[in-house]
Amino acid sequence: MDNPIHDVIIIGGSYGGLSAALQLARARRDVLIIDEGKRRNRFASHSHGFLTQDGVDPAVIAADARAQVMEYRTVNWLSARADSTARIEPTDGSGANFEVMTNGRKHLARRLLLATGVKDILPRITGLEERWGKAVFHCPYCHGYELDQGRIGVIAGSELSMHHALMLPDWGPTTFLINGAFEPDAEQLESLAARGVTVERCPIEAITGHADILLADRRTLPFAGLFTLTPFEMSSPIAQELGLDFEEGPVGSVIRTDAMKETSMPGVFACGDAARPMASVALAVGDGNLAGAGLHRSLMFGTV
Ligand SMILES: Cc1cc2nc3c(=O)[nH]c(=O)nc-3n(C[C@H](O)[C@H](O)[C@H](O)COP(=O)(O)OP(=O)(O)OC[C@H]3O[C@@H](n4cnc5c(N)ncnc54)[C@H](O)[C@@H]3O)c2cc1C
Repeated sequence: MDNPIHDVIIIGGSYGGLSAALQLARARRDVLIIDEGKRRNRFASHSHGFLTQDGVDPAVIAADARAQVMEYRTVNWLSARADSTARIEPTDGSGANFEVMTNGRKHLARRLLLATGVKDILPRITGLEERWGKAVFHCPYCHGYELDQGRIGVIAGSELSMHHALMLPDWGPTTFLINGAFEPDAEQLESLAARGVTVERCPIEAITGHADILLADRRTLPFAGLFTLTPFEMSSPIAQELGLDFEEGPVGSVIRTDAMKETSMPGVFACGDAARPMASVALAVGDGNLAGAGLHRSLMFGTV
């Protein structure tokens, strides 16, 4: 058939999407995964904190996951960007409820899963972008241990970075680089001092070497690694275009879902970073597992 109606179209074929696909495949459901291959952690060469895969290249984890899921013959893969989606009223009794467009081509499905992830908005500091995921990180649990208790710099983006600065001393002696982002009040300075954090107010000129901070007064502070709390946005505007409800998180909004990962639009599910404020590979896989079961239940008993 030229235009088959899939049980589920999954947009985003990384950890969250593939985990959902596995559940659906094991229920022998027909799934189309559409993915453009821009995982959030593609800048890092090692992934940590995901049981059984600690220290493995995140690209290898994703490739192994894809290979295992593609063993199921009801799963189809399309390497492409989903440009738009829409809810449709079935006119031919076929049972399709959603259409997804890729490069002018239409794909039909009964249910939709958004596992599209998020995009980090990096601070504009010379030398930061090329060190992202290599010497500059956002998650201490993912990359703090490997710094081997060396000196750590926390680059402030806003007052929210206080949280980061107060956590990082558990991974190494910490300097809080305020960089004009905000001015800590007396209480905040006291809590930083209590955690042994050094406060540096001189503006940052650039990051050089491995993770050396060149300050505006020409001093250079060498670090084993740097952390910064990045705001994020949706990788894809599809959720906004569908009119789904969002919930505000501290550094960005995520798609609102219920306990089984169904969004405010019946039949549309969301999982992984796009639908949770705290992010990790393990959490995306767990969410995907729930979403897969939720989608299956919706296909069996739900109405759209
Ligand atoms: C530098 C860095 C290092 C990290 N290190 C770790 C770590 O060590 N351990 C850990 O647990 N977590 C780590 N993370 C977090 C981890 O990357 C995310 O939690 C995880 O990738 C979320 O998985 P996901 O499936 O929700 O989204 P993603 O992995 O981001 O995948 C989303 C997928 O959807 C695709 N997509 C988006 N829009 C479309 C569209 N319109 N059409 C088609 N495809 C689309 C993307 O191309 C991508 O392939 C790190 C993050 C960063 C930034």
